[in-house]
Amino acid sequence: MGSRPAEAEILIVGAGPTGLALACALRNLGLKPLHFDKHEEGLNTSRAAVIHPRTMEVLENLGVAPTLLREGLRMEQFRLREGRKVLLQIDFSELPTAYPFALMIPQQDTERILMERLKELGGEVARGVEVIDLKMKSEGVEVLVRRGREEYWIHTRWLVGCDGGRSLVRQKAGITFEGEAYEQTFVLADVKMEWPIGRDEASLFLSSDGMMVVAPLPGNHFRIVATITQAPQDLSVPFFQSLVETRGPSGSKRIMEMFWASPFHLQHRVASSNFLGRVLLCGDAAHVHSPAGGQGMNMGIQDAVSLAEPLGKAVEAGEVSGLGQWSKTRHRIAKKVVTMTHRMTLVAALSKPWQRIVRNMVLGVISGMPGLSQKFARKLSELDHR
Ligand SMILES: Cc1cc2nc3c(=O)[nH]c(=O)nc-3n(C[C@H](O)[C@H](O)[C@H](O)COP(=O)(O)OP(=O)(O)OC[C@H]3O[C@@H](n4cnc5c(N)ncnc54)[C@H](O)[C@@H]3O)c2cc1C
Repeated sequence: MGSRPAEAEILIVGAGPTGLALACALRNLGLKPLHFDKHEEGLNTSRAAVIHPRTMEVLENLGVAPTLLREGLRMEQFRLREGRKVLLQIDFSELPTAYPFALMIPQQDTERILMERLKELGGEVARGVEVIDLKMKSEGVEVLVRRGREEYWIHTRWLVGCDGGRSLVRQKAGITFEGEAYEQTFVLADVKMEWPIGRDEASLFLSSDGMMVVAPLPGNHFRIVATITQAPQDLSVPFFQSLVETRGPSGSKRIMEMFWASPFHLQHRVASSNFLGRVLLCGDAAHVHSPAGGQGMNMGIQDAVSLAEPLGKAVEAGEVSGLGQWSKTRHRIAKKVVTMTHRMTLVAALSKPWQRIVRNMVLGVISGMPGLSQKFARKLSELDHR
């Protein structure tokens, strides 16, 4: 950012996948938002690794679908297992969409592709600019930003917080974030390994020690995510090797190389509102939840792309009814998804032998009813949110 703007129609805070998708969608409509991120560079870590069919549909309009398809890995089968035994199979290949698969691609690649598209559309992100305070006014929001040693105020008619789970925009606007923290810690690693199930499915393993997800990633890599009571200081290859040995299927499993590992603590929370005065919230700023089902980044991108049109109408024609409708719809969807992923996490965490027997019986019944597992595929794929 060369000059120091004093005013904006729209100011987006945050250039994660949500903020980047919103900036592209607004540019598509001819709008030129101001866009800040406090980090000098993108986070460049692989975090969210799956793009669901509904997200691919909405990303189509931004012009990034062909590149994502070229770089990502198409995954049609998702199986719940205990060891080698399949408890439930969820098949994406019959879904009524042009994208009947989950696309496996690390988050930093999704962000890079969105950033490249934003540049093609003439947009840019001012990096190293942090929003540190705001004052809500009837005709807009006064925003205090810090860039290096400078601090100055900007007036914006609309402020969109895409600033992640600890959103300063949400906190300063006085919007509560209702929910709780999970007791378990999650650990995650991207590895190269010998894996007896192969690379055609994403598997969720249920075990008395906790759950573990193993999913293939492009470049012959695998993503491992597991719940544990306490993460060790050193997330080493032997630690993940013992997880795949104890929770995974029988057969030869050998981790050859680890590229990235991280512990993370999670919460399930939804903002009491994602539209207050001239402030709007999208993505993790509005909702955070368990990674079960890989919904987090997908929801954020869908919040963002669906906001562009009503926000455009508010800016250009002063019509705010569309924003009210957007807010109600996205809030309802967030509540549903947080409930679904919370239930999935609780079911996966059942540890008493009798609970696991009942759970496996119920999964067996669902598995025998193709209509039910197809319904679940629709939910996971987020096609119900059309
Ligand atoms: C270790 C880990 C693993 C994960 N794994 C998965 C997964 O497997 N599947 C899944 O779906 N999700 C996963 N997630 C969650 C997923 O990464 C998030 O849902 C996603 O990043 C949300 O995108 P966002 O753009 O809303 O927020 P973020 O990606 O958090 O981006 C927020 C941006 O706002 C900027 N910012 C924040 N505050 C300010 C400020 N005051 N001023 C200016 N800029 C600011 C930040 O620098 C950041 O760039 C994982 C998260 C973590 C941490």
